[in-house]
Amino acid sequence: MPFRSLSNIQDQLNTGSTTAVEVAQLYLDRIAQYNDTLNAFVFIDPEHVLAQAEASDAYRAEHGARPLEGLPIAIKDIFCTQNGPTRCCSNILEGFEAPYDAHVITRLKEAGAVLVGKTNMDEFAMGSSNETSAFGGVQNPWNTDCIPGGSSGGSASAVAAGLTPAALGTDTGGSIRQPAALTGLVGLKPTYGRVSRRGIIAFASSLDQAGPMTRTVKDTAMLTSVMVGHDAGDATSVADAPNFDWLKACENKDMKGLRIGKPKEYFIDGMHTEVRAQVEAALKKCEELGAEIVDISLPHTEYAVAAYYVIAPSEASTNLSRYDAVRFGHRCDKPEDLEDMYARSRDEGFGAEVKRRILTGTFALSSGYYDAYYLKAQQVRTLIINDFKQAFEQVDVIATPTSPIPAFKSGEKTDDPLTMYLSDIFTIAVNLAGLPGLSQPCGFAEDLPVGLQWIAPAWQEDKILNAASAYENATDWHTKSPVKFGGAA
Ligand code: GLN
Repeated sequence: MPFRSLSNIQDQLNTGSTTAVEVAQLYLDRIAQYNDTLNAFVFIDPEHVLAQAEASDAYRAEHGARPLEGLPIAIKDIFCTQNGPTRCCSNILEGFEAPYDAHVITRLKEAGAVLVGKTNMDEFAMGSSNETSAFGGVQNPWNTDCIPGGSSGGSASAVAAGLTPAALGTDTGGSIRQPAALTGLVGLKPTYGRVSRRGIIAFASSLDQAGPMTRTVKDTAMLTSVMVGHDAGDATSVADAPNFDWLKACENKDMKGLRIGKPKEYFIDGMHTEVRAQVEAALKKCEELGAEIVDISLPHTEYAVAAYYVIAPSEASTNLSRYDAVRFGHRCDKPEDLEDMYARSRDEGFGAEVKRRILTGTFALSSGYYDAYYLKAQQVRTLIINDFKQAFEQVDVIATPTSPIPAFKSGEKTDDPLTMYLSDIFTIAVNLAGLPGLSQPCGFAEDLPVGLQWIAPAWQEDKILNAASAYENATDWHTKSPVKFGGAA
């Protein structure tokens, strides 16, 4: 029951075999039972959840069902929500309650969704393991000694353990796709500009995108179709973006005529051999389904991580300058003067990784270094964009591993930021180029889930959904769930 897909629950709600209140209660009970173990949720208000579910049942009885009527969705703590705190899992936002809902939250509410609470994440979404959270780390339900990935680790853990059927995440350098891969879920980062960023706490504004984390490809399509659309409140939200029927795009059962690019830079020495083997096997399956695998090259891939770790911290250093302890958030005790208030409040409020990013970013933007670092990184970004452009002249979609390794042990990489940064080598270029990318489960390595990443040209998420649903239809990886939490591996 707890591992049902959204569309499954929707069917049951539509036939009247269950109610939104019953569904909400089931997940609230699961959260009460397992959240102490997983630390996936940082804020939950059961009464508010049930009130939304009751309102949804009443709405259905009177007007019929909206697209997400009565479906529980957990929300990463980076989205502003009017009910309860929004902390971005940082101490600097102590006591903060958002005065408005993020645009996507409004969209979900208007579609009848039941918001089930705020999920744990790396502080300000900076991390790949969820260990930088001010609320402590999150456990991976497949092996509770391991991290769930990050930064949307709470959302990943919650869906994987059946504490909610779906959740929202955000992805600046891989934060939806990498945790989805490490916990056996489907996660989509839409094309940059497809989903409004208004009300999503900014990390790196030229890279940030929100997207869903679900159990199936169809569920991802269902949620994304509600989240997308132009918003005049976000200057980078694209008006007249090419759109398509998201659910129809999931009806594919074969891959006849599909040209899949396999970039040699994403199958490298040093990656986990079993991860590589699983992804190679997945590509074989795609061939059986009618696809043609084309060897391609994305020659500037090796510079993506370096460029990202200049651009993202630079943008973060300016975005995070708003936390000044004046209007909201943490303020230090008895400041001596204004300078002391800024300095001590920020010192106390931000964790080590966030400080590291602010310092690197401020340095990269400072006069005398701007050309050598920031400008250079932007030039590299253009080369990466061109790599993809050239590749998509030859192929329809690109398939790669999502992460070079399966989930690692908690604490294993916390003292070594550089190896932590390398967990994103296969996801970051997609953000730099603004492209859509999806991860879906394609096997196990060391009994931990492995993810297959699909990349398409901008606005062509339908191509990704076509391919991913054909693969999902031909395999059963998406039906697995962790035994320890009542699932069937
Ligand atoms: N792990 C990457 C980072 O720490 C990406 C994070 C993200 O996508 N929010 O910056």
